[in-house]
Amino acid sequence: MPSFQRRQFLFAMGAVAGSVALKGCMGNPPDEKSGASKQSAPNVSTGSGLKAGEEPEVKTAKLGYLPIVESAPLIIASVKGFFAKYGMPDVKVEKQANWGAARDNVKIGSGGGGTDGGQWQMPMPYLITDGVITDGNKIPMYVLCQLNTQGNGIALANKHKGKNVGLKFDPKYFADLKASGNRFKAAYTFPKSNQEFWIRYWLAANGVDPDEMVDLLTVPASQTVADMKRGAMDAFSTGDPWPNRIVAENIGFISALSGDLWPSHPEEYFALRKDWSDKNPKATKALLKALMEAQQWCDNFDNRKELASIVSQREYFGVPEAVLEGPLMGRYDMGEGRKIDDRKQAVLYWKDSKGSTSYPYQSHDLWFLTESHRWNFLDKAQYETAKALIPTVNREDIWKQCAQEIGIPAADIPTSTSRGIEEFFDGIKFDPANPDTYLKDVKIKRV
Ligand code: CA
Repeated sequence: MPSFQRRQFLFAMGAVAGSVALKGCMGNPPDEKSGASKQSAPNVSTGSGLKAGEEPEVKTAKLGYLPIVESAPLIIASVKGFFAKYGMPDVKVEKQANWGAARDNVKIGSGGGGTDGGQWQMPMPYLITDGVITDGNKIPMYVLCQLNTQGNGIALANKHKGKNVGLKFDPKYFADLKASGNRFKAAYTFPKSNQEFWIRYWLAANGVDPDEMVDLLTVPASQTVADMKRGAMDAFSTGDPWPNRIVAENIGFISALSGDLWPSHPEEYFALRKDWSDKNPKATKALLKALMEAQQWCDNFDNRKELASIVSQREYFGVPEAVLEGPLMGRYDMGEGRKIDDRKQAVLYWKDSKGSTSYPYQSHDLWFLTESHRWNFLDKAQYETAKALIPTVNREDIWKQCAQEIGIPAADIPTSTSRGIEEFFDGIKFDPANPDTYLKDVKIKRV
């Protein structure tokens, strides 16, 4: 356990001891039989979340994460002792240099010095399962929960300020740039997944063909600020705190939040290698239960100041705490006049305006695969293959079991694998029952 995590853990353990002592002073000795002392602060007592027969097969797992707000539940589950609560005190959360490294590390697995899984953009777990981004090596994965919604944005360099390039804009601006030889360069953090989809959707919905009018490139999230500062790109799409930092450092402004494009949209996911999960089914559930508790902790706005102070630390994001507070509290200065102060537009981890954030809707996996086909990242045959994988890759059944076992109220457990019809900012609808209609309705596409 890194020193900071250990410090947090020991501090939390001290808090448990303190609460037990207080209970004793008040004439209520800890009830050994019911474990009342554990109930006073259950999230930090090793093994306290386990019932008979639930002891995980292993006490450790190696989980990768990227330094963006999406990863907060993984970091909090570790720091706050939720993994330990479910019998896995030795889980290691490991920062990945970029998404390519995250993919390479899950490809080799923890046995080869890599990881067992962790945080993913969608549809990476499908592309890894089918070998599309792993040189044909098929490494089956399980998607176990969604980590968050919102908390991402499209940032533009200052030179585009004052040109009305916001959520909606006149496509002529991009045509003029192309005609003048200054083609617009837009970056995302990994190709053919969330960040590329958000930037493509935003451009195409405004009438700009991203393949015709824009140069698209890959830049790791942590390099976006420096690269935009030196003029290497006009725009990038990534998770906070990076878009917010662009404004804080007066390098650019935010054109659109991902939640502007699609309120309560699916963002990033927790997924594991299938072979690890099949070998360790109880440990899989322990990890998921710990993450679900961490998501609830992260979702509580009373905890968000502390969340910012934890994840801003050098060993996690390594950014000033202040640039995290805005996105975590739903306070955005977009840098071009528009100011937002609305918790509903913050990054959310457990519940959002559509219901459960954590539950992995199969209908969302289908949207990511359909959008992949829209841009021909998956050709027709690959799209059909990937769609057929949804019921085996998406393990919403395990999510439901875990939710029931940790006492999540039935009202908070979705009853359908589909969230139903989704609507985007330009009025386009995605009906999971008819993805072909969506493909017909979007105007700019490669199919
Ligand atoms: Ca993201």
